[in-house]
Amino acid sequence: MIRLSIYKQGEFEDLCRGPHVPALRFLHNFKLTRVAGAYLGGDEKAEMLTRIYGIAFADKESLKAHLHMMEEAKKRDHRKIGSEMELFMFNEEAGSGLPFWMPKGAKLRYKLETILHKAHLRREYQPVRGPEILKADMWRTSGHYACYGDNMYLTTIDEQEYGIKPMNCLGHILVFKQAQKSYRDLPLRYYEYGVVHRHEKSGVLHGLLRVREFTQDDAHIFCEPHQIASEVLEVVEFVDAVMKLFGFEYTMEIATKPEKAIGEDAVWELATQGLKDALDGNTLPYTIDEGGGAFYGPKIDIKITDAIGRKWQCGTIQVDFNLPERFDVEYVGEDNTRKKPVMIHRAILGSFERFIGILTEHYAGEFPFFLAPLQVIIIPISSSHVAYANSLKKALLYSDIDAEVYDKNDSLNKRVRNAEKQRVPYVVIIGDEEVANASVAIRDRRNKEQYNLTQDEFMVKLGKQLQKGKI
Ligand code: ZN
Repeated sequence: MIRLSIYKQGEFEDLCRGPHVPALRFLHNFKLTRVAGAYLGGDEKAEMLTRIYGIAFADKESLKAHLHMMEEAKKRDHRKIGSEMELFMFNEEAGSGLPFWMPKGAKLRYKLETILHKAHLRREYQPVRGPEILKADMWRTSGHYACYGDNMYLTTIDEQEYGIKPMNCLGHILVFKQAQKSYRDLPLRYYEYGVVHRHEKSGVLHGLLRVREFTQDDAHIFCEPHQIASEVLEVVEFVDAVMKLFGFEYTMEIATKPEKAIGEDAVWELATQGLKDALDGNTLPYTIDEGGGAFYGPKIDIKITDAIGRKWQCGTIQVDFNLPERFDVEYVGEDNTRKKPVMIHRAILGSFERFIGILTEHYAGEFPFFLAPLQVIIIPISSSHVAYANSLKKALLYSDIDAEVYDKNDSLNKRVRNAEKQRVPYVVIIGDEEVANASVAIRDRRNKEQYNLTQDEFMVKLGKQLQKGKI
C-alpha cells in the first residue's frame, strides 16, 4: 500500500509519497547534495524555482557511512570503469540501451558464461535454444501479449504478426512437447543463455543495469508437483554456490500474487506454499513481498549485497502452473494417466549484462583472476627479451590464460603504469635474469606483492587460480 500526503503552502498544493517531517528543525544529521532549477507545477512558462536536494539520517554515523558509500559508488561506476578497461560501449546512432561488447568485455563475459555452462552441466541441466521471434499467436496463448504486450517489439513477416521474445519460456515448452514425456523423464531441466528484448522507456535506461536487449541465464525445470520443494532447494543451493564465488551476501524474498494475474487462486496458493516449504524445510530465512509476484506465478527473488553495502535484485525462482495449462504440456504419470507438469522458471544472475555491471562495481574493476579479461601482461625490458616474452605468452594462452606482451616503445615505468591502469592481476617483467633462468618477475596486483618464480612455478600457480572459478 502507498500512502500519500497532501502538502499545502499558501495557494500551492502537492501530492507526495513522503516520509515527511513536520519542520526542517527535526533534521539534525543532513547534507545538502545539489541544487537544480524546477518550474512551478512542471509548467515551462511558470516561474523558475530552485529545488534543493539533501539527505538526512537519524544519526551522524549513518550519514557518514552513506556519504562514504556514495563516494565509493561514484568511483566504482561501471560505465566509467567499463570505458577505462574497454569492456563495453553504447552507440546512440545504433540505438539506446543496446550494449556492444568490446574484446576485453567479451572475454570477461565468455569466462562467466563458461563457468556457468559447466556448473549447469554438473547439475544435470540440458542446453537448449529457441528462436528470437515467434508468431504473435504464441504470445497470445502464453498471456504475454495481453499482460506484457506494451513492452514487446512486434513485427510482421508474410502478413503474419510476430513478437520478438521478451522471455525464453515458450521455446523450452515447445522443445519439451516435441516428444512424449513420462514421469521417468522428470525433473527435466532445460537451460539457455536466452537473448531477450524488452521495451524500456528511454528515461530508465542506465549503462548495463537497464538495457533493451539482454541475455538471461535462463532455465526451466519441468517436474511433478511433489518435486517442487526439492527442485527449488537445488536451485537455492546453486544460487548459494554462485554468490559465494563472487563474495556476495544475499537474502531471499517470496513474492505473492499481484493484482494483474492469470490463473486460479487455488493454483496460486499451491505454488506459493511450494516455495515456502522449500525454504522452511532448510530453515533458510526469507521475507514476504505481498503482491510482488509475476503475473503467471509466485516467485522467490534473490537480492544480493555488494562490497559497499548496496542491494541488487538479481535472480528469481518462479513456480508456474499456468503455462503448462495454456500450452497443454503433459507427461504420462506413474499410474499411466496424462498429467500436467509444474514449470519452474529460474535465473541466477538475472542477465549477463546487469550482473557484469554489478560485478564491475562490486570489484571496482579488480576482477578475480578466473574472470579478469586480461590475466597476465608481460613487459620485456628491452628488445632482447621479446622472444622469451612471446614464448611465455604462447605457453599461457595454451593453458587457457589470457596474456599479452606489452613491447611498445614506451619507457618501462610508463608501461608498468599503463598495465596497472588496466587492473591486470599479474604484471610480469622480463629482463636478462629472467631470460637466463626461464623465470618471471611478478607484480601481483591483487595481493600487492612483488616476487620471482620460475616459469613452471608460475604456470602451476595460475592453473590453481583458474580452478577457483569452478562451482
Ligand atoms: Zn520462463
